[in-house]
Amino acid sequence: MDLPLAIKEQETLAPSFLVEGSFFTGILCPTVYRCPNCRSVYKFILGPGDVFLGEGRRTCSKCRQEFRDRSKEWPVISSMDRILFLFPMVVDGSILLALIVCTLFFYIGWNVGPTPVLMLLAIFFAIPLMAWFIFRGSQIARSVRRFRLCGKTKAA
Ligand SMILES: [Zn+2]
Repeated sequence: MDLPLAIKEQETLAPSFLVEGSFFTGILCPTVYRCPNCRSVYKFILGPGDVFLGEGRRTCSKCRQEFRDRSKEWPVISSMDRILFLFPMVVDGSILLALIVCTLFFYIGWNVGPTPVLMLLAIFFAIPLMAWFIFRGSQIARSVRRFRLCGKTKAA
């Protein structure tokens, strides 16, 4: 028997003129995942078409119904999804913001020298981004381990 599939909803908070090709669309268009039975939200992702890692099934914390949560394990997702997983819109946005700030400081801080600028960039962008990649890396490692364990007992 197939389990019911989770509901995926795309919220659009961005004005329509922003939707096309904008880096910030991701921040303004969160994706909401709901339990197919009681419609309670179990996952909230910033950005359209995001992927997340998991065994593919989940038991709702509210109604105790089991359902397919649209998650996949790292070894079975496509390379496009892998790129999206590592560089979702939020991360693209912050990299873009870092570049803008960098350019601004380049003009404003002409006489200040590069050291304070680099320190500021490190504090506001490099550290959160590093933390992000460490966090994602550990999620991938866990997913791969889970996949190897499960792969032996159930058919993919
Ligand atoms: Zn539920």
